[in-house]
Amino acid sequence: MPAYGRHPTAQFIEIQNRSFLVDCGEATQMQLMRMQANFHRINHIFISHLHGDHYLGLMGLIFTLHLQRRTNDLHVYSHRGLDEIITTQLRYSRSAPSFKIIFHRLEKGVREVIYEDDALTVETIPLSHKIRCSGFLFKEKMKPRRIDKTKLPEGLLLQQIISLKRGDDVVDAVGNVLYRNSDLTLPPRKSRSYAYCSDTEFDRNFIEQIRNVDLLYHEATFVESDESKARETKHSTAKQAATVAQLADAGSLLLGHFSARYRDLVPILEEARTIFPNSRLALEGEEFTIPD
Ligand SMILES: [Zn+2]
Repeated sequence: MPAYGRHPTAQFIEIQNRSFLVDCGEATQMQLMRMQANFHRINHIFISHLHGDHYLGLMGLIFTLHLQRRTNDLHVYSHRGLDEIITTQLRYSRSAPSFKIIFHRLEKGVREVIYEDDALTVETIPLSHKIRCSGFLFKEKMKPRRIDKTKLPEGLLLQQIISLKRGDDVVDAVGNVLYRNSDLTLPPRKSRSYAYCSDTEFDRNFIEQIRNVDLLYHEATFVESDESKARETKHSTAKQAATVAQLADAGSLLLGHFSARYRDLVPILEEARTIFPNSRLALEGEEFTIPD
């Protein structure tokens, strides 16, 4: 439930000029507007599961995009049922959206690449929850080498600069090497990764998949003293989230999806930090950057 100014789940993710939305709880569009996130650029929305706190904001967002006469296709990834829910709502409102909605059905218990472009991939993480549920792993691909401007000779052709970025040497018309790649370029920037894991009980099965992830978001709905509640509802405690981060050798951990029973989140943060010091709270409106 929304509580103490905390909203249901939604995350706006920007990677190399691309914008994605992960989950879309109630009032997500209002929050996107408040945060001045450019949500018109979102072409892909990933919904982890069909509990209301993860998708009830989607219809509002879709109606707004329609009223604003969006024309780009919108891709929605979800477990079975969401296509039916959305098309039913549209049917009874007699609205034909100004854009095409393309549904992609996620498979239960399967790890698969569901999105790929020239910069990154998104794969599903099978999670263990009360209903079908998947997390999402965003992984940047290898980036091009960087031209070392201080060493760049004058008069290189555009084609030769492109081949340098690709990692090739600069050659003349008959193939003689003019400049070695390693003399003119710097190694590529780091390829970053982000894992979104909500909602789930403590589960070792996906640890290998997220090994060495730069940033892990893991739900921490409860504190350890309410562990029985976590077990009953197939959620995790802060200690369990931190244990996953530790076992997976994550760079850092973001905790979220806090139960409405807690006003103060400091105990959640402290509990996680006893196991995994590099833990932070994913609070409403906060922005987190993975350095490259
Ligand atoms: Zn749930």
